[in-house]
Order: sequence, then C-alpha cells, then structure tokens
Amino acid sequence: ASSTVKSYNITLLPGDGIGPEVISVAKNVLNLAGSLEGIEFKFKEMPMGGAALDLTGVPLPEETLTTAKQSDAVLLGAIGGYKWDKNEKHLKPETGLLQLREGLKVFANLRPASVLPQLVDASTLKKEVAEGVDLMVVRELTGGIYFGKPRGFGTNENGEEIGFNTDVYAAYEIDRIARIAFETARKRSGKLCSVDKANVLEASMFWRERVIAIASEYPDVELTHMYVDNAAMQLVRNPKQFDTIVTNNIFGDILSDEASMITGSIGMLPSASLGESGPGLFEPIHGSAPDIAGQDKANPLATILSAAMLLKYGLGEVQAAERIELAVLDTLNRGFRTGDIYSVGNKLVGCKEMGEQVLKSVDTKT
Ligand code: ATP
Ligand code: MG
Repeated sequence: ASSTVKSYNITLLPGDGIGPEVISVAKNVLNLAGSLEGIEFKFKEMPMGGAALDLTGVPLPEETLTTAKQSDAVLLGAIGGYKWDKNEKHLKPETGLLQLREGLKVFANLRPASVLPQLVDASTLKKEVAEGVDLMVVRELTGGIYFGKPRGFGTNENGEEIGFNTDVYAAYEIDRIARIAFETARKRSGKLCSVDKANVLEASMFWRERVIAIASEYPDVELTHMYVDNAAMQLVRNPKQFDTIVTNNIFGDILSDEASMITGSIGMLPSASLGESGPGLFEPIHGSAPDIAGQDKANPLATILSAAMLLKYGLGEVQAAERIELAVLDTLNRGFRTGDIYSVGNKLVGCKEMGEQVLKSVDTKT
C-alpha cells in the first residue's frame, strides 16, 4: 500500500439475531467504498450483547469496551433476543448497550427519517403527506430521566409503595447537545426545532433557556420551539415542516420511533451516536429481529446506511459516505427489495443478494 492510503480502525459488534448477517454485508460495502477513495479499514470483531453473555457471562466484556474506545469508530449490528429476556437487569443484552454508550460517552443520537421516493408506498401516512419527508432527530442520550438521581423504589408518606425517577439536565449537557444540533441543522436546511415541555417541567424550562443562549452562536440557523405533545401530533399531521429536531432523552426516544414509523421501513433506518471526541457508535435502529434471524431475510440497508453515517459523521469521509448513499438509491432504482420493503413488480432478494447488488452499485456509480 502506498503512503497516501488512509487507514482507520473499526470495531465491529455483530451482536445477536440478524446482527451478524447485516454486519457482514455492511463490512464488505465499507471495504469497497473505502478502497475507491484510498481508505483502508482494519476491522476488529468483538462480542457484545447476548452473544457476549453466552461467551463471557457479561453483556459488555471489558475487552470489547477497551477495543471500541481505542478504535476510530464502532459499527454495531443488533442485540437481544427471547433467550435472554428473563435475565436479571445487569445480565440483559440491553444493559450492555447502555454501558457501551456510557463508556464511549456518546451523548448525541442522530436519527434521520427520510421517505425515499422509491418507498413512498411503505409509509404509514397518505402519499401526499409522506412524499418528500426528510428529517433528522437529534436526541440527548446520556442524561435526563433515564439516568437522573435519585431513582428507585420506596414508600411514600402514606406507606404506599412507589417507583420514582428524576429528570435533570446540567447546563453543559444541554449546551453540548444543542451545539451538535445547530451544526447538524446548518449542514441540512438550516432549520432547528427544539422540542420540550417547558409549560410544565422545570428541566424543560431550563432546556429552552440554554438552547436559546446557544442559538446566539448560530445566527444563520432558524430556531423554533415546540411542546412535545404538539410535536408528536405535527409529526403525523405534517412531517414536512421539520428539518432538524433536537430534544431530550425520553422525548427523543419516543419521537424518533414515531418518526421512523412514518417511513414505514424499519429495515432502512440508520443512526449515529456521537460524543465530544473519541469514536462514534453507528447502528441500525431496528432490533435483532429474532423472528427472521439466520434465514437470510434481513434488510441490510439500515446497517449499510449506518456505515455511511460512520464515514460522514465519524471519520469525516464525506465522499466515501456519498458513494454508499448513492449506491443504496441505485440498488432500489434497479428494483431490488428485501421482504420488509417488497412491493409487486420488484425483485425480492435476501440479505446477501441485497449486499451483492449494493456492491455492484458502488462499483458502477463512480
Ligand atoms: P428490539 O427490542 O431489539 O428493538 P423489537 O422487537 O422492538 O426489537 P425489531 O427486532 O426491530 O424490534 O423487529 C421488529 C419487526 O421488524 C420484526 O418483525 C422484524 O422481523 C422486523 N425487522 C426488524 N429489522 C429488520 C430488517 N433489518 N429487515 C427486515 N425486517 C426487520
Ligand atoms: Mg424495539
């Protein structure tokens, strides 16, 4: 290899269910798109989730986290499955994912939801409402009610059993997610909508105050605010009004799932989780889909598009990322569909074949 070849270390975490199938396809696509741009990848595959539980007794082995931290980016398949559903909390595959996010200090979760022209019919909304939807939810991932203390179970003053959590955000936590959101909006159409419940919750009033303060650094971005209940309605009433949405952990959890359902194609949607420095975590939004695991039926496009986000947001390799995005569109244009996005008149293919077709598109669309 010549000295001009750029090299990156990528940690692959295939995980469970369809995870290994989609990761193996995405790895090949990364390799090809990279090689066309003078980029070389060194992959390290590590156990995570249920696979790690079976192998080592914990969902996120120390060695997996260390490897992930030392790499340039992490690509995750999916984790979880019926087999581990009854495990105690600390022995659940999902706990490993929370530990990984904490370990990598990724506080910003970026989830695009686009209705591709080729897949308009998959949308749960009417064609005229769905057509042209292209939005991005930026969710705060490491703070708020999911992590706030105090939390737990106890008894109230009447001796009744209670469960409780705390919704809390420090200024620095809001400032840093707001900056990522403004930067993201700036790269897109320059519109940012901050979603909160500032009419009821102090944590939300503070959120809005800090977002407005940070907005002064981004005079070119148009900032609006919306209450979360209204945002949930507007997302199905007129999703085209949104470009970039920024919101806290729990509202973002719910709204990003809602936004993904608008597209109707869970097998198509990628995500990125970013920190201040250090490797980002990239993964499809779908789960391990145990119902179709091992049957070569999984749609690998969500993971392939996650690999594109890895290139764009994780490594700054925008051209290689665009090669992959174009290749996915080209493959859809050529009529190839996995079962989850199939409609009459198209060519039904499995996970591996879909991967082969994307490789073909990467090769020819240069
Ligand atoms: P988790 O709790 O891990 O998120 P889940 O049950 O919420 O899991 P998924 O595992 O994403 O959700 O599966 C939901 C449905 O979507 C299943 O029927 C599954 O087969 C289907 N599905 C998910 N991902 C894909 C994919 N990549 N290709 C095809 N079908 C998929
Ligand atoms: Mg789920």
